[in-house]
Amino acid sequence: MKPSAVPILLYHSIDVPPTRDKPFRSLHVHPDRFRSQMKWLKRLGYQGLSMQDARPYLEGRKQGKVAVITFDDGFLNVYQHAMPVLNELGFTATNYFVANQIGGRNEWDMPKGAVEIPCMTTEQLRDWAAHGHEVGAHTLDHIYLPGAEMKEAERQIAGSKKALEEILGAEVTNFCYPYGG
Ligand SMILES: [Zn+2]
Repeated sequence: MKPSAVPILLYHSIDVPPTRDKPFRSLHVHPDRFRSQMKWLKRLGYQGLSMQDARPYLEGRKQGKVAVITFDDGFLNVYQHAMPVLNELGFTATNYFVANQIGGRNEWDMPKGAVEIPCMTTEQLRDWAAHGHEVGAHTLDHIYLPGAEMKEAERQIAGSKKALEEILGAEVTNFCYPYGG
């Protein structure tokens, strides 16, 4: 079978956007808007799936109306505002965690003036997975990989996978490049 085109929705922070003078404002989607977008997906007949759950569709082994739902950075507000909606609609999603910021915050964006956003703790990460959602890797420190030495890039990529697997007690098979680089 030929693989069908699968839409991939990429979110970061699900919270009330900060004031207009703050950078990275577009990384935030209001919880009410997120709920409305998910309900529209459902109404249009889409099944929202994590990258892992969507793999058979992406590879053409299964056909169906599915949309991949992903979140970058492992933010606490996704656990608080998005997970209940996903659970209610029977959707799964992938969150790409910054391994050295579990229980931490968006240290990588704060020097650029971004508002502080807390990340999920180890308990919340495990609970995210316990609800059928996927844990993906997103490096150790959210670095721009093309700007790093090969050895450091390898440490960031392999190290984040290993650290997350230790927390999760399961294999982590998906990775997302910070800043798309
Ligand atoms: Zn990111």
